[in-house]
Amino acid sequence: MMIEEEKNRKINLNPSKDILKQLRIAAKILHIENTAVHKILENPKQIIIVKFHILMDNGKRKLFTGFRVRYNNDLGPTKGGIRYHPDLTLSEVINLAALMTFKTAVMNLPLGGAKGGVRCNTKKMSNREIERLTRKYTEAIAKFIGPDIDIPAPDVYTNEQIMAWIMDEYSKITGKSAPGVVTGKPIIIGGSLIRDEATSRGLMYVIQEASKHLSLKLKGAKIVIQGYGNVGFNIARLLNGIGCKIIAVSDTKGGIYIEKGINPIEVKEHKEETKSVINYPESKNIKNKELLELECDILIPSAIENQINKINAPHVKAKIIVEGANGPMTLQADKILNNKNILVIPDILANGGGVTVSYFEQIQNKSGNYWNKEKITKKLKAAMKKSFDEVIEIAEKHRITMRTAAYIKAIKKISEAINVRHFFSNK
Ligand code: NAD
Repeated sequence: MMIEEEKNRKINLNPSKDILKQLRIAAKILHIENTAVHKILENPKQIIIVKFHILMDNGKRKLFTGFRVRYNNDLGPTKGGIRYHPDLTLSEVINLAALMTFKTAVMNLPLGGAKGGVRCNTKKMSNREIERLTRKYTEAIAKFIGPDIDIPAPDVYTNEQIMAWIMDEYSKITGKSAPGVVTGKPIIIGGSLIRDEATSRGLMYVIQEASKHLSLKLKGAKIVIQGYGNVGFNIARLLNGIGCKIIAVSDTKGGIYIEKGINPIEVKEHKEETKSVINYPESKNIKNKELLELECDILIPSAIENQINKINAPHVKAKIIVEGANGPMTLQADKILNNKNILVIPDILANGGGVTVSYFEQIQNKSGNYWNKEKITKKLKAAMKKSFDEVIEIAEKHRITMRTAAYIKAIKKISEAINVRHFFSNK
């Protein structure tokens, strides 16, 4: 297939150097470096690139590029979000699919990892155009997704409405109602209670465990959050609800700082009215760069990748960093921060609450038996605590970072599945 990346031969089908390096560090500790299992884990299993056009509101047809990468399915059907972003690249989708693979394993879920998306700017599109784009993208990837094959979910600039369109289009194509083809759907068509806040709720439980570990008092703790979308807003609201002080938040246009702490709901209303958190009354506007370097107890990057790097990491002053976003810091930054004794809780553990409740949604769709909020939050809390305890135990045993420990936990599980599925008779 003709794709731009192929034309200029810059295409790289492996995940980023950072992910490969982290994988190698963990493989070495597990004594599986350079084995067949290690090689399998370094490569995505399936890459789907689609080109499709839709009719825009101005009567012209526009061509779009979409991706779906199924990184590994040895633990079970693949699972991962769909991102709509103007700068989306295949490399980014491969990285995110690899992280999903390790995340589902860290969270002890019987699922593999995937990711997908379309290169598009939804901020410049009408809802009708977004619907047409979603339906066309679904049609293009329909053969490769399904309740027992690969199950998409929301990610950056996609939401429950978009999941509803995917489910509807897929159901039309297959001729049967298929609520289980996506998670993060509206509740009325089979979505799970609390899926909208699941990632942030999971983050909160991890923060509670981490602060117990460091004997940090959460009441009055100063919190800084980058990104004010699904993850950023919900974690601000939930932490504010348990007495933390959210002193700064941001979005693409910049950030705001208020010493006494924001009211998360009012800031969200302000963002809905003005399209940004900036210029919120009584706050001081700050740049995203400044926000990451603020004096605080807990920093929660909840926007996009590579925000904390070797340049700004030495200036970060938080006691704990909890990765709400996927891949918000480079490996070099992780090393610098760990050397500064800052506890970094990696994405593949910290934001695993989203995929965990997505898995609960799948179970509910399969059984037709829907759970109440208490049951879901109890199960989510138990799952986050179990994974946190398992990862911290590995970190302490080997005197390694939480990220390496999380990779070790994930790789151990996936390798066991690979061995038993593919290599058992060769032993
Ligand atoms: P979202 O689209 O709802 O929100 C993203 C937010 O980030 C927006 O407020 C946007 O303005 C802001 N942002 C984008 N670029 C920025 C930049 N350069 N600087 C500052 N802010 C910026 O997306 P989301 O669902 O909240 O996802 C955020 C992150 O969390 C992503 O990395 C995503 O992969 C990860 N994540 C999301 C979920 C989930 O359930 N939604 C689960 C796991 C991980």
